[in-house]
Amino acid sequence: MDQSIVGNRFEAGAQYLDGALRPGTADQHFDVSNPADGSVVQRVRLASTADVDTAVAAARRAYPEWSGSTPGARSEALLKLSGILADRAEDFARVESAQTGKPIKLTTEFDVPGTVDNTAFFAGAARNLEGKAAGEYSGDHTSSIRREPIGVVGSISPWNYPLQMAAWKILPAIAAGNTIVLKPAELTPLTSLMFAQACTDAGIPDGVVNVITGAGRTAGEHLVGHPDVSMVSFTGSTGVGKRVGEVAVQGVKRTHLELGGKAPFVVFDDADLEAAVHGAVAGSLINTGQDCTAATRAYVQRPLFDAFVAGVAELYDQVRLGDPFNPQTDLGPLVSLRQRDSVAGFVERARGYGATIAAGGFVPKQGHDGTDLSNGAYYRPTLITGVGQDAEVVQSEIFGPVLVVLPFDSDEEGLRLANDTPYGLAASAWTRDVYRSLRATREIQAGCVWVNDHIPIISEMPHGGYKASGYGKDMSQYSLDEYTQVKHVMQDITAVARKDWHRTVFGDR
Ligand code: NAD
Repeated sequence: MDQSIVGNRFEAGAQYLDGALRPGTADQHFDVSNPADGSVVQRVRLASTADVDTAVAAARRAYPEWSGSTPGARSEALLKLSGILADRAEDFARVESAQTGKPIKLTTEFDVPGTVDNTAFFAGAARNLEGKAAGEYSGDHTSSIRREPIGVVGSISPWNYPLQMAAWKILPAIAAGNTIVLKPAELTPLTSLMFAQACTDAGIPDGVVNVITGAGRTAGEHLVGHPDVSMVSFTGSTGVGKRVGEVAVQGVKRTHLELGGKAPFVVFDDADLEAAVHGAVAGSLINTGQDCTAATRAYVQRPLFDAFVAGVAELYDQVRLGDPFNPQTDLGPLVSLRQRDSVAGFVERARGYGATIAAGGFVPKQGHDGTDLSNGAYYRPTLITGVGQDAEVVQSEIFGPVLVVLPFDSDEEGLRLANDTPYGLAASAWTRDVYRSLRATREIQAGCVWVNDHIPIISEMPHGGYKASGYGKDMSQYSLDEYTQVKHVMQDITAVARKDWHRTVFGDR
C-alpha cells in the first residue's frame, strides 16, 4: 500500500480530545492495516480509561455553550462542515479505502458523497426541531413543548462504514445541541478522526466532538458506563449491543441501538427476473457483503427459482476482485483475515451439512488485475442453495459476500419465511403486482422495506431496526428525536390562587 495516503498526519496521536490530536495512554498499540495486503496503514497507541475521562470532561465543558447556541449558529457550522468535507472528498475516500480495503469506486461514489449530503441535511434539520403546537389544552394553562438536548452522548461505531457511521452518530447529536465522544472500531478509526478535525476547521468549538481510539471492552465499556455520559448510541453486533444495553441501564441512560441484520430478498413469480438478479448481486455484494442491510436470504417463488440461481451464479463468477485502488475493481477484501475466516467457516460448515455451493466458496489467489491476493482477506462471492430455513447460514448474520437462496410456493409462505429470523433491519420485495407489493410492505417486519430495489438510503428517511436489529433511528428528522428530550412546560393563565382542581385536596373548604 502506498504509505503516503495517510502520511504523518497522525504523528501527534490518534485521539481527538478537546479540539486536537493527542496520543493515547494505554499500554497497548494497535496496527490499523490495509486488509488488501496486510500492510500497516497507521500504528496507534490506544486510549486508556483515563483518556475516556479526559474526552468526557472536554465534552461536558463544551456543553453549556454549544447547547445554548442558536439553531441557526449550529446550522451554519454544519453547512461549513459539509463544504469542507466536499473539498476533502478525495482524501477521505483514499484513507477510507486504505483502512477498510473498500474499492475506491465505492468510497468515492457512496461513502463520501453520502456523508457530505448527510451533513448538509443536518445543517437544515438543526433549524427544524418539531413539537406539538403551544396551546390552552386545559383551558387554564398555556402548554408548550421544549425540545432540548440530552447532554454528553457516548457513541460506539463499527468498522464496516467507518466514515458514514461516524457521521450518522455525530451529526444529529450536535445538530440538536449535544456534545459527543465517539469511539470508532479499533480496526478503522482514521476517517472518524479526520471528520472530527474537519468539525474544528468548520468552527465547531473544541470539546463538542471528541474521538477516542480504544478497545471495546475497556475504553468502550468505560464510556458507556461513565456517569457524565447521558445518552449511549451504539451501532454494531446484536451480541455487543446487548452488553452495551446492560451497562447503560445501570445509569438509566437513553440508549439507541443499531444492531445486526439478515435481510430477506423476496422474489414473487411475476417479478422482472433481470432486475431481481442484478438487484440480488449488487444488494448482497455491496461493501463485500459487510452491510447490515445487505441481501442475505433470497426467497424465490418456485417458477423463477432455477433461472434466478443460474443468473446470480453467472454474475457472481464475473465479479472482479483485486486492488481496491484500481477503479475497475468491483470487490475488495473483507475488513480483516479474522472476518474472512469467519465467513469461510460459515461456508465450510454449510458444505458439511449438505449445502450446494452454486458459486464461489473459496479464497482466491489472484485478482482480475493480476494482483497477488494471497496476503489479503479476500473471499469469492458465494451462492448457497439446498439448505433449509433452520440452517445456520439462513439464521445467522455472516457479514460477508454470501447469499443463500431458498424456494417458496405460496405468497404466505414467502412472507412467513422472510420474517422467520430474530432480525428485522431491512428487506425487499420484487413484484410487478401492486397488491403483492402492498401486502409485502405491510407484513414484513423490518425498519425498511424496498420494492424492486435493495440498498439505497437517503438522508431524509430513517434507518433503524425492528426486533433484534435494535431500536432508534439514524438519519432523517427522526434521529433528532433520538438525540433530544421533550419537556412539557405548563403555565397558569388564570392568576387564581385557589384553583378548581384543589378541591381534590381541600374538599369543599
Ligand atoms: P461489534 O459489535 O463487534 O463492534 C462494534 C463496536 O463496539 C466497536 O467499536 C467495538 O470496539 C465496540 N465494542 C466491543 N465490545 C464492547 C463493549 N463491551 N462495550 C462497548 N463497546 C464495545 O461490531 P462490528 O464487528 O464492528 O460491526 C459489525 C456489526 O455491526 C454487524 O453485526 C452489523 O450488522 C452491525 N451494523 C449495524 C448497523 C445498523 O445500522 N443497524 C450498521 C452497521 C453495522
